[in-house]
Amino acid sequence: MSKIKMTTPLVEMDGDEMTRVLWKMIKDELLEPYIELNTEYYDLGLEHRNETDDQVTIDSAEATKKYGVAVKCATITPNAARMTEYNLKQMWKSPNGTIRAMLDGTVFRAPIVVKGIEPCVRNWKKPITLARHAYGDVYKATEMKIPGAGKAELVFTAADGTESREEIFTFDGPGIIQGQHNRCDSIESFARSCFKFALETKQDLWFSTKDTISKKYDHTFKDIFAEIFEKEYKNKFEEAGITYFYTLIDDAVARVMKSEGGFIWACKNYDGDVMSDMVSSAFGSLAMMTSVLVSPHGYFEYEAAHGTVQRHYYKHLKGEETSTNSVATIFAWTGALRKRGELDGNKELSQFADKLEKACLTTIESGKMTKDLALITSIENPTVLNSQDFIKEIRNTLDQM
Ligand code: NAP
Ligand code: MG
Repeated sequence: MSKIKMTTPLVEMDGDEMTRVLWKMIKDELLEPYIELNTEYYDLGLEHRNETDDQVTIDSAEATKKYGVAVKCATITPNAARMTEYNLKQMWKSPNGTIRAMLDGTVFRAPIVVKGIEPCVRNWKKPITLARHAYGDVYKATEMKIPGAGKAELVFTAADGTESREEIFTFDGPGIIQGQHNRCDSIESFARSCFKFALETKQDLWFSTKDTISKKYDHTFKDIFAEIFEKEYKNKFEEAGITYFYTLIDDAVARVMKSEGGFIWACKNYDGDVMSDMVSSAFGSLAMMTSVLVSPHGYFEYEAAHGTVQRHYYKHLKGEETSTNSVATIFAWTGALRKRGELDGNKELSQFADKLEKACLTTIESGKMTKDLALITSIENPTVLNSQDFIKEIRNTLDQM
């Protein structure tokens, strides 16, 4: 059988620790035997980021703008311990943050649904994709402790020097205050990324805020979404047979719990932070969550939602056996390959991506899985495989297909 060819390169961002180990196994066992892989390779491993003063991260984001599609391995976000461990010149910023800022994108997280790993919520049959606005609000707030009696005000000084003021509260004792902001251009990008991704995946889009209480702040989010939808996406949604639905956050939570899934839920920054952890843990496992960064300009970067699985990596270094789940990393590759195939009119490539995903699910459904899944599966007497054997078993399934 001849290998599948690729016309346009895929941007490949390698990463750290256990996921870097899996990355190579996936390429060797599941991709290169079938595809003449055409990638532009960027090593985002922490050592190389440090050597290049993090220029490699910037270059990889630029390449994503050039080619449109990237696949990324999990990477270490340095902290104090990593400074010593890797003898870093600087505490480099999170690559995901740098890339997200450069592509102006929104992150969509979706669980991989497979028989045998049942969600805690019985009626959830299809994945729920969560989109979190990753800018502003409480994450960029300014806070103050109020020591005692006095008046707190919001003051805006315009570029021409004119001031506008609103009283926040007149204290007669100690208290606390907080000032939040967001930018209309950031909300617009968030809205466009959400509408684009809904069309892309042919799923309904839900958006929720607390606009009844926050009549200017949250209401602006609602208005921007509504305006962009009316002007740019209404007809396209009708043609695709999908809907855009706005509701209050508390109503959304109630509806989500009773739904059967199969839609995208867009949330403001804080709501998205909290709800994505709830949705992902209710679906079963962090190792079964995919993540894609979608920019309003139409660039896509696919990755697994989990980190570099440091604990397993240290076992691996000591020569001990690991049973690390590679499914989300494989799905990052298949997501990117399928997208590349769609953009290039390369059917064979997209079909291969579908097949490889099917092979992963079939393998798990036949009772062969990694330890994390064996602990939560409803399948009786599952076979627990190590990291390498699980990937080999997926290859067997693929070859049988
Ligand atoms: P993590 O890598 O997500 O792993 C946390 C724990 O979750 C693991 O110890 C393991 O539990 C379980 N787990 C996660 N993925 C798994 C998989 N594929 N298979 C089996 N079990 C899995 O988070 P972390 O250990 O807190 O972070 C490690 C590094 O990752 C940090 O340096 C952080 O900066 C980075 N990180 C990167 C990204 C990214 O690049 N997108 C995201 C998050 C974190 P058990 O140990 O119980 O088996
Ligand atoms: Mg969180």
